[in-house]
Amino acid sequence: MFKIVFLTLFLTMFLYAVVFQLQPHMENVKTSASVNFFEDTTKKMGIDNIKAQNFKTGRAIRSKQGRSRSAWWMKLQVQNPTDEPIDWILKFNYGQFDELQSWQFNDKGLLVSHSVKGDHHLDVSKIPFAQRSSFEFKTLPEEEDTLYLKLSYVDSGIIEMFHSVWTKDAFIKSQQLRNNLLVGIISALFALLLYNIFIWIILRKNEYFWYNIYLVGVMLSLLTFNQVGSYYLWNNSLYLIDMMPFLSIGTLFVSFILFTREFLETSKFLPVVDKILKALIVVTISAVVLANFGERHLAIGLVQLVSFVFIFFPVIGFILWHRGYQIARGYTLASLLLSFTFLLSLLRYIDVLQSNELLFWVNRFGFIAEGILLSIALADRITILEKETMRAQESVRHTLEEAKNTLESEVKKRTVELEILTKKAEELARTDELTGIWNRRALLERGDDLIRFAIRYKMPFSIVIIDIDHFKDVNDKYGHEAGDITLRSFAKEISDNIRDTDFFARIGGEEFVILLAHTRADEAMEKTKILLKKIEALEISYKDLIVKVTASMGVCEFSDLEDTSYSLIAKADQALYHVKQNGRNSVHLYLEC
Ligand code: GH3
Ligand code: MG
Ligand code: MG
Repeated sequence: MFKIVFLTLFLTMFLYAVVFQLQPHMENVKTSASVNFFEDTTKKMGIDNIKAQNFKTGRAIRSKQGRSRSAWWMKLQVQNPTDEPIDWILKFNYGQFDELQSWQFNDKGLLVSHSVKGDHHLDVSKIPFAQRSSFEFKTLPEEEDTLYLKLSYVDSGIIEMFHSVWTKDAFIKSQQLRNNLLVGIISALFALLLYNIFIWIILRKNEYFWYNIYLVGVMLSLLTFNQVGSYYLWNNSLYLIDMMPFLSIGTLFVSFILFTREFLETSKFLPVVDKILKALIVVTISAVVLANFGERHLAIGLVQLVSFVFIFFPVIGFILWHRGYQIARGYTLASLLLSFTFLLSLLRYIDVLQSNELLFWVNRFGFIAEGILLSIALADRITILEKETMRAQESVRHTLEEAKNTLESEVKKRTVELEILTKKAEELARTDELTGIWNRRALLERGDDLIRFAIRYKMPFSIVIIDIDHFKDVNDKYGHEAGDITLRSFAKEISDNIRDTDFFARIGGEEFVILLAHTRADEAMEKTKILLKKIEALEISYKDLIVKVTASMGVCEFSDLEDTSYSLIAKADQALYHVKQNGRNSVHLYLEC
């Protein structure tokens, strides 16, 4: 929300400045479309010699893109259509020449001749600011004059020499406006700088550091190329007057490249681009060093090369944005503005665009807009990165939790499985393999339990031991398999005829025991008699045969508190022995022994 308000305010300010403030003034600007120029590579021609030369038409002198050591001549036809004299001012946007000489002719001959020192000269600091890099002349009513201007260079001039011809009134007004706007722009940049220095102090992030240096570079460039710097700030140093164009542009380029590397993490995402960026830093620093050693000619060429590459910076952002790197969005938009600014400069160099006041301001406002957009992009980046970190932490936490839950449920599952297995193993350890009923071990345990129960709750219980009669004969007659089947059928018959609460076990080959809970001796005796009948009636089929068996039983009721499962079984066995002795297929109670 804050961003939208901020941008809207800025755009309104920009439109107001350009449309309402600048536009009316610009109507008074006579551009240099009618200016002709001539390059004197010998640097030795005089005015008489020059008049005979063939001047070329052109919109601007660019000293071969600022890399010429020639003397440049301009020829201006100026007409005064009014019946008043007019004062004119020829203004160079950035007068990095050493000297400007002029000759003004009317149809009668030479009127005046002047000499003005350019920016590239220490004496220039004595000339009032508004008159710097400018040349004043006067035309009489209804007269057409021809002006010859000679621009001299000790060394290569700087990049461009755009110029415009103004009437003096319009010029003064425009200078006031220009100065006011310039102060506004520098102040806005300064505020932006302070704000971001503050953020840098808090966050200590490299991208903020480079961004602040970049803002300093932009401010220095504006001060340099509007001549404010060389007039107010470094007016005593010819070295700085000469070097500031390179130092300011160098700072701006290097810091923006380093900012880009930090912001987009190019070393991680686009290693090839990262190498190109590093190379650009080397080229820029080389340009500054070359300029320092007087090689301005080559230095300007290198700076122009880097500024050409800058036009493609938004592409880097766009590639990453396209790949889904959200942070790159703000960068792409902001660098698009910067790229637009550089593109305008380029179009001016190659004569596609004509230099004028509007372009001058578009360029400068472009820098602020870009600065603000980048500042917003930076803030966005921090927010996005924080969100991403939080999301990452959250997902790690989630994964850990999930892993813990899975582990827990797995452990639970395994435990249950283990419990079941243990139970099964225990059960198996207590089960008779052949008949599926309890075995001797289970019986001994249960017997002891029942004894404890009986003692504590004074609850009666009886034990019955059963032995199949002449079982050996079954095996002998029908075979071992028939014997096994007989044992199973026998066990099933008894199981089917006792209560759930009774405990039935096989304790040996053809010997079984029943623990009858809540059962006294007489009840047990009755029960065994029924069982004997059932066994007698039982017909066991084996193949085509029917096997029949009888059994003998011994009964004993628990009464002696000293008794154990063992001793009880032994007592019942005694009773059983009695039956075996007395004809089998019957039951005997222990007491009666
Ligand atoms: P008694 O009436 O005196 O009890 O005579 P018996 O033949 O039943 O007694 P004995 O103890 O002499 O014989 C038991 C036989 O039971 C011996 C053995 O061959 C048989 N036997 C024991 N365990 C098994 C078994 O698991 N399967 C089969 N088929 N026979 C078994
Ligand atoms: Mg036996
Ligand atoms: Mg037997």
